[in-house]
Amino acid sequence: MREKQSVKELEPYVVNPVVCSIKLDANEGNKDLYKDLIKKISSDFYLNTYPDDNYTELKKAIASYAKCDVKNISVGNGSSELLDLCVKAFVDTNELILSLDPTFSMYSLYAQIANSRYIGAGESNDFTIKVDDIIKSIKENNPKLTIICNPNNPTGAVIKKEDVLRIVKSTDNIVIADEAYMEFSNESVVDEIENYDNLIVVKTMSKAFSMAGIRTGYLIAGEDIIKTIEKVRPPYNLNSISAFLATEALKEKDKMLEYVKTLKVERKKVYNSLLDMGVKAYKSGANFVFFKSDIKGLEEKLIKDDILIRKFGGKLNNYYRVTIGSEKENKVFLESMKKLV
Ligand code: PMP
Repeated sequence: MREKQSVKELEPYVVNPVVCSIKLDANEGNKDLYKDLIKKISSDFYLNTYPDDNYTELKKAIASYAKCDVKNISVGNGSSELLDLCVKAFVDTNELILSLDPTFSMYSLYAQIANSRYIGAGESNDFTIKVDDIIKSIKENNPKLTIICNPNNPTGAVIKKEDVLRIVKSTDNIVIADEAYMEFSNESVVDEIENYDNLIVVKTMSKAFSMAGIRTGYLIAGEDIIKTIEKVRPPYNLNSISAFLATEALKEKDKMLEYVKTLKVERKKVYNSLLDMGVKAYKSGANFVFFKSDIKGLEEKLIKDDILIRKFGGKLNNYYRVTIGSEKENKVFLESMKKLV
């Protein structure tokens, strides 16, 4: 067997290949939001040279948006790459990574590839997050890395800023706040990185900025952490076209802020409509709503109506996550659901 043991036992992250016109399965944003930026790539955009490995312009734009210093930023090929780099930088073989349960499945995948151990904590029946249980588990298990997805994917649960900071204070080891969806909420700890030398905030252009296609993420932390991340970051990890487009989008953040406002209105509509239908939906601080339904073959039935949502298995059998789409898309989804319940 050529594969190393940890890879042999690995199940790949599966992306649903089904194509539907109404795509509400991957928490992507508004397709028109920054569509015109591509026109800014002109004939004097040279592709023969490597990108500026300091990503100077992009970091300036991030610093201005996130209100931090450029020395506190690393950039990545999606926040996915940065999460992987954190595992590479801070966790050795057999050391422990602690996260929420349930949460974004890539954390455990990176843990497994790195031959580290992984546990979930803070679980509750209604998917709210039990912060005291997380802290208790940190004290008992002393994880080398703790990852807090806030708002949490797939449930949409939000942890208050003060509670995230309680978790950060409960350990000397690294705590990552994965704030991929934080633009849709209001509990960011990004302004605390100077106060806690074990805190990392990971963010992405894929969600509120609606630019999942350019695979751009960034990490904000104290200078010592950035120095460590830079040791394991491959040179030129972000391509020059993505770096340019992300920079331009960040300069036009007002568009994103407007979009987030309308999304929150739509999120409320989808959540309330599901409740009105008698569907158990969970309050969300992200750009999706998590819900439970006992309708047999719900995913397939929605696919027949040309709508794709995300279905979960295992412990989350009968649970689904629907991305908040445009007003029209949400209406079609809700009409379809109404017909099925
Ligand atoms: N974190 C969370 C919580 C996510 O849901 C996702 C994508 N679904 C990511 C990180 C990765 O996003 P990206 O690599 O596109 O930045």
